[in-house]
Amino acid sequence: MTTNCAFLENELMDVVRLFKNRPDQIQHSYRYEDGVFFNDFVIDGQSFSFKDREQVRDELEFKRLERRFAKLALYEILSEKYSEKMPWGALTGIRPTKLAYTELEKGLDFRPLFEKMRVSKQNVELVAQILKAQEGIYEKRDGNVDLFISIPFCPTKCAYCSFITAPIEKTRYFLPDYLTALEREIEESKPLIQNLRSIYIGGGTPFALSVSGLERVLKPLDSLAKVEYTVEAGRPDVFTREKLALLKEHGVTRICINPQTFSDETLQKIGRRHTVSDVYKAFEMIDGLGFDVNVDLIAGLEGESVETFISGVEKAVQTGAENITVHCLSLKSGAKLKEECSYIENQSISDMISASREILSGAGYEPYYMYRQKYQAGNNENVGWTKPNKACVYNIDIMEETTDNLALGANAVSKRVTFDNGRIERFASQKDLKTYLEKIDEILQKRAKFFQKQL
Ligand code: SF4
Repeated sequence: MTTNCAFLENELMDVVRLFKNRPDQIQHSYRYEDGVFFNDFVIDGQSFSFKDREQVRDELEFKRLERRFAKLALYEILSEKYSEKMPWGALTGIRPTKLAYTELEKGLDFRPLFEKMRVSKQNVELVAQILKAQEGIYEKRDGNVDLFISIPFCPTKCAYCSFITAPIEKTRYFLPDYLTALEREIEESKPLIQNLRSIYIGGGTPFALSVSGLERVLKPLDSLAKVEYTVEAGRPDVFTREKLALLKEHGVTRICINPQTFSDETLQKIGRRHTVSDVYKAFEMIDGLGFDVNVDLIAGLEGESVETFISGVEKAVQTGAENITVHCLSLKSGAKLKEECSYIENQSISDMISASREILSGAGYEPYYMYRQKYQAGNNENVGWTKPNKACVYNIDIMEETTDNLALGANAVSKRVTFDNGRIERFASQKDLKTYLEKIDEILQKRAKFFQKQL
C-alpha cells in the first residue's frame, strides 16, 4: 500500500484486512479542495476516483470525515472486486454503538450514516435494539465511576487466551503479597470514588483464589457494596459452595460462569481442565442463591461445527442465565491457537452468529451491548444478551466508555473520560506481578494524581 497520506494508512489497511489482506498493490492519493474530499486509487492497474462533499462543522469532524470517505471508497472497490459484503460494511476501528450515539447527540438518526457505510440491515437493527436496551442505564455524568479489581490468576492457561494471566500453581509465591497490595489499593482508593455505579472483580479467574484469599479481596469492599457487584467467578472447575456463600455474605449480586462451549471435545482442545458436566454442577451450586448469572460462549472455536455451536447456545438458554454473551473468536499474538489453527470459514461464523441471534431473541433475550475486535473471526462482533431489566451496568459503561474506571491490581487499566472533547485517558499498572509489587507506592501516587485528587 502506498498513500500520500500517512495518517490514512492504518485505516485503509483495516479495510484491506477485511478482504483477507488482498490485493498486494494499492496506490492511494487524497486531497481536500473547495469542500470536496478526493480519494483516488490504482488497484491492479485500474484507476478509481471518488469525490465526496459534506459540510464540516469543526476540526474533529473534518478528521473523522477524511477517514470515513477514504475507507468507504476502498471498501466499495474491494467489495465489488471480490464480490463480498461485510456485515459491518466499511465500519472498522470504531464501536458501532458509540458512532450511533455521536449521531444522536447531533440530533440525527444514526441509520442513514450506517446505511451509507454499507452496514447490513440486520446490524443496523441490532444497533437500534442495543440503544433501546441501554435506555435508563446509559449515562454521561461527571463523577460516575466503576470499580474494577484485577485477579490475574487462572487454574491453567487456555489455548486461545491472549490475556496476561498466570497459572496459579506457578505464581503461588506472589499471592499473599498480591492480596496485601490489593487490600491497600482498595482502602487508599476509596477517597477517589464519587458516584459509584458498579463493582467488578475480574480476571483471570477470581475463583482461582482460595476461600480465605477471596475473602481478603471482598472484605475491604464491604462499605462500597451497595451497587451492582459482579464477580467473574470464571471456570466451573474452581466453583465451590463455600466461595459462593462468601460472595453472598459480602453483597455480590452477579456472577459469571464461563463455559465458552458446551462440547467436551472442544473444552479439551482449548486447554480447559473441566467438562460440560462441571458447568451444570456450577449451576446446581448457585441454585437458590439469587445471583444474576452471565454465561460466555465463543463462536469459532477450533473444530466446532455450526451445529455444535447452535446446540451450545440452546444449552446456555436452558440454564436460565440472565445474560449470555456470544463472542466471536479473536486471536491475538499471545494465543497459542493462532500458531496452530487458521480461522474457520467466515461463512460458518456468520451462520453461527445469525443462528445465535435468532435463538436468543426467540428465548426473550435482548442484545444490550456489543464490541468488535481486530482479527475477529468472520469480521463479526461480540454481543451481550440480557433478559429484560437484567442488563449489566458495568458492561454497558465499559463498552460505551461513558464512565471513569478505577482499576486496581496488576495489569489494570484505569480510564478517565472527558465529555467536552470526548478524550479518554488511561493509566495502566504494571503487568508483571513482581514489578507491580515493587512499584505499588508509585502506582498509588500516580493513580491518585491521574484522577486529580489527593489521597
Ligand atoms: S480462564 Fe479466561 S483469562 Fe484464564 S486463561 Fe482461560 S481464557 Fe484466559
